[in-house]
Amino acid sequence: MSGSPVWHPFTQHGLDEPIPLVTRAEGAALHTADGRRIIDAISSWWVTTHGHCHPRIMAAIAAQTERIDQIIYAGWTHEPAETLARGLTAIMPPALEYVFYSDSGSTSVEVALKMALGFWANRGEPRHRVLVMEHSYHGDTIGAMSVGARGVFNQAYAPLLFDVGTIPFPANSAEQVTLDALEAACRERPVAFIVEPLILGAGGMLIYPPAVLAEMRSICARHNVLFIADEVMTGWGRAGTLLACEQADVIPDILCLSKGLTGGSVPLAVTMATRPIYDAHLSDDRSKMFFHSSSYTANPIACAAAVANLEIWRDEPVLARIADLAERQAVRLAAVQGVVGKRQIGTITAMEIPVSDHGYLASVGPALSRQFRNRNVLLRPLGNTIYVMPPYCIDDPDLDTVYDAITGAGRHLSG
Ligand SMILES: *Cc1c(COP(=O)(O)O)cnc(C)c1O
Repeated sequence: MSGSPVWHPFTQHGLDEPIPLVTRAEGAALHTADGRRIIDAISSWWVTTHGHCHPRIMAAIAAQTERIDQIIYAGWTHEPAETLARGLTAIMPPALEYVFYSDSGSTSVEVALKMALGFWANRGEPRHRVLVMEHSYHGDTIGAMSVGARGVFNQAYAPLLFDVGTIPFPANSAEQVTLDALEAACRERPVAFIVEPLILGAGGMLIYPPAVLAEMRSICARHNVLFIADEVMTGWGRAGTLLACEQADVIPDILCLSKGLTGGSVPLAVTMATRPIYDAHLSDDRSKMFFHSSSYTANPIACAAAVANLEIWRDEPVLARIADLAERQAVRLAAVQGVVGKRQIGTITAMEIPVSDHGYLASVGPALSRQFRNRNVLLRPLGNTIYVMPPYCIDDPDLDTVYDAITGAGRHLSG
């Protein structure tokens, strides 16, 4: 698409990489204008769960477009949002009684942070500092960047980022260091601890054990520090269970969901909160209301898509499909050659190409992406880290093609 006025996200246009024109998406595949079928091995940046253009979600969107397009959501409501909120509170941990709508993972995080600050402010015990985990990623808006890892992604914007307390990542054998650091930081009355449960996505697909998550949650509870689970990537079965938190029996005070909420079809996010968070904003004093909105809060078409997603979870064997994909991924991960650091959680596998040049800007990243694209596979490595996170409907031949491409790349680039 040379000559296009479009400015793409996380894209260096100066490198003149080709930008394929996708004309159709179906199941685990994208079809391009030049007649290629591309296997979407990263679920189009982690959003597509059941597969592209799931008929039930597409039908729900079509039906909703005949009823309401968009309405103001402050002081008004509509059926898709009510049905969705009831559906969410029914399948998520019962303590998360309230649902606040927004439009993206980043905004769900902004909302979570504002809810946490508002909780303390409205109780007359204002708190200031947020605790975060090293290598974490929570989105690209200013607040979400502030609670994420600092690096080349946000260096230019650093003057706008607020100060946070960073807890070290619980690397193997250093788990106690993490827990001790969290315990010490919690004594200083922080607002909240925000964390990606069990796997840090954009930070490099770094996995840590459920026992650490459970222990971190109980430290926060003991010190009366709010616990925010950012399940924007891990939710909706990605990590093997509906929520990653389930594997550690953890119930957060605030939960962020987006990406798979609509099956990955249209943008929508929710921030779910417990009764104490809601109650801290409940008053006859208007100055204590939750001061957040965006124009398209709870867009009816997006809510209808999410309701259809809940119906798919109710009516189809989604968890069995996820368990099956996890197994099929494990077999292929074990067999892949020329890589190190193999790891897996649920439907996600990750590994590194052993090169000396690493980090997000490692030159091997774009070289790999190009090789994969030439083999009609969509993979987008994080530096020298390759990960596979396909839609749950991917079949065996497609999965084989993906891993053959990885083995080919490993052989070509390492050593
Ligand atoms: C993708 C992601 C976000 C940001 O979501 P957007 O919809 O891209 O704004 C936040 N947190 C995590 C863990 C994510 O993976």
